[in-house]
Amino acid sequence: MENNSFDFLKASLDLYKNAAKYLDMPDRIYLSLQRPERVLEVRIPVRMDNGDNLIFQGWRSQHCSWRGPLKGGIRYHPDTTRNEVIALSMLMTWKCALVDIPYGGAKGGVNLDMDVLPDNYKKELTNPFPYLMSKRELKNLTDNYTEKIFPIIGPKIDIPAPDVNTTPEIMGWIMNKYSSMVGHTEPSVVTGKPLSLGGSVGRDKATGQGCFITILEALDYLSRTNKLGPRSDRYTCAIQGFGNAGSVVAKLLHEGGIKVIAVSDRKGAIYNLRGLDIPKLIELKNKGNSVSNFKEAESISQEDLLSLPVTILVPAALEGVITKYNAHKIQARILAEAANGPTTPEANKIIEKNGVFVIPDILANAGGVVVSYFEWVQGLEQFYWSLEQVEKELQTKMKKAFDEVMATAKKFKVENRTAAFMTAINRVAEAGIARGKAL
Ligand code: NAD
Repeated sequence: MENNSFDFLKASLDLYKNAAKYLDMPDRIYLSLQRPERVLEVRIPVRMDNGDNLIFQGWRSQHCSWRGPLKGGIRYHPDTTRNEVIALSMLMTWKCALVDIPYGGAKGGVNLDMDVLPDNYKKELTNPFPYLMSKRELKNLTDNYTEKIFPIIGPKIDIPAPDVNTTPEIMGWIMNKYSSMVGHTEPSVVTGKPLSLGGSVGRDKATGQGCFITILEALDYLSRTNKLGPRSDRYTCAIQGFGNAGSVVAKLLHEGGIKVIAVSDRKGAIYNLRGLDIPKLIELKNKGNSVSNFKEAESISQEDLLSLPVTILVPAALEGVITKYNAHKIQARILAEAANGPTTPEANKIIEKNGVFVIPDILANAGGVVVSYFEWVQGLEQFYWSLEQVEKELQTKMKKAFDEVMATAKKFKVENRTAAFMTAINRVAEAGIARGKAL
């Protein structure tokens, strides 16, 4: 996946500006929302197991707190940049507003600072971060990052969560470090924690489950409007990325009788027209293997996965993977964006023109932050819900947001993505106006 040339921040701003033009927003509000409220850049020294000292670079971007405390994941990735983190924090603002939870958007990211490495080191390192780091090194990195962003996080200020390459275990470390710094146990400073530390049941599956709910809504909507045949046993799906989000979508679709015929991860892609055995594949992945080691499938190129003639295509890896170069090849009827920002603006135009039904990222992957919100509420009240309650509330939030996007699309005769952004931006703008930010 080559996304270095993709300007994610510009793309996110363009989406904002395009949706905002349909809304009657006061100038001050319109301009304010184009910038993050605050971006903290931090230096994170880590002593590696072999005694070397490496310097990592990290950021926490807080986009807009008008609707409540800030919320957003932390990503550890070799391609993470300051601008990417800002763009993701902006998307978080819209996402939280779209599913109507009382948060603003934030995001954190950590990358290895290649500029300060000696030349011989650079040659030896081929993207070792964070994949080749030991648990002790990751813990050291996480402790030091938490210490650096400590002044701007907190249960009523900014609440981190997992994102790419960060896990419930890492959230537990953040909670521990923060708690030791404030001098008391503070579970609500992060979400996506292990259950033993006050995590919510259902949080681990929530992003995939939310995406699955929106896919079912889309299938239902398209059948009702005679845009798709009712033969659900013939629906097929291809999924790019088989991590936290992608593997759960795969499992739920598989259980729901929809054939998942192709999946990929960062090492390769596989295909089986009869449908992949997803539980077996998950078992393989849980043992630390790549999906490309799965025997009951043939291997295909990662690029070919995107252009398979499937009912549903789910990008669930990284941003900028559907571009003007491959968008015209997409044959899927529904594009369910489990990943953040998988489609570039140029690609989006092509896809819309070709009549693909888009479930935009801020809707398709909002399930994670919705259940994070439930976890936060449970933590603050110290009163924990059942899985049934979590799933029921998630379903309600996702369906309501889906219906609102459809209603906005119909009312303003705009595409789904614009409709989702309009619904969200309008809510944030209303909060800003109510706070007197327009004056
Ligand atoms: P993850 O690290 O668990 O999984 C990412 C998957 O993508 C892995 O299987 C990885 O091998 C694969 N991948 C990486 N490069 C690839 C490539 N070139 N081709 C194919 N596959 C590739 O991450 P995740 O938490 O599942 O997040 C995936 C996406 O979903 C990200 O965009 C993230 O921002 C978004 N998201 C995640 C959550 C969440 O709760 N985890 C919530 C909202 C959005």
